[in-house]
Amino acid sequence: MKIVRKITAIILAGGKGSRMQTEIPKQYLDLCGKPVLYYSLKCFEESTVDDIVLVTGKDGMDYCKKNIVERYRFQKVKCIVQGGSERYWSVKSGLDAARGTDYVLIHDAARPCITKEMVENSILEVENSGACTVGIPAKDTIKIVDENGFGIETPPRNCLWQVQTPQSFRYSDIMEAYYKMEQADDRDITDDTMIIERYLGKKTKIIWGSYYNLKITTHEDLVVAETFLKKIKKVVDME
Ligand code: C5P
Repeated sequence: MKIVRKITAIILAGGKGSRMQTEIPKQYLDLCGKPVLYYSLKCFEESTVDDIVLVTGKDGMDYCKKNIVERYRFQKVKCIVQGGSERYWSVKSGLDAARGTDYVLIHDAARPCITKEMVENSILEVENSGACTVGIPAKDTIKIVDENGFGIETPPRNCLWQVQTPQSFRYSDIMEAYYKMEQADDRDITDDTMIIERYLGKKTKIIWGSYYNLKITTHEDLVVAETFLKKIKKVVDME
């Protein structure tokens, strides 16, 4: 008998992009003729996920519905929900809207160079180990720095990976971890693998992402993303 499981992508587009210093949040800026958010939606739309929850800021809900979801006919977007003041509150809104699913893939809309391969590998791995993220080995030596700006420790580089998104979890696990985080009033959170580690004591499997899968944060990143997107598209077109 085939076991039917449901997989939901939660796409986070609720940030204000203050480090970009533009009026328009970075997820809506133009990249090769389309909004940055378009590329993540397109990738998940064409993947084997069952549905998509899109999380936006209050002002972005209407814009996303008309100018992105309806305009590009993304059929898998089952709802658009309002995010919160911090990334983890936006994730929580997305999780609440994904009730009834078995697994979630949480992805930053600010990473437009995501590929179908990353999504499908994440699905295989989360079904296998319950928690995984894509990442890449650190290329640089990384320092731990004290409050006066002095390097005080150098962790061995072969143990250091930069984590990206999608980050994928069993739905019941991530909900339990978020519940415990809220009870603990912990606000020192930068991604969801941290929450799983801290509140469930669970390890997250790190699988290969890509050096192309950058997060757009400042203007230089837009230029790099444009080059990367063209390269990825070229690869796809040649297949
Ligand atoms: O700000 P940062 O680069 O960490 O944002 C990563 C992703 O999380 C972005 O796609 C952004 O839109 C989203 N985000 C969000 N809600 C927030 C802050 C960030 O959905 N309050």
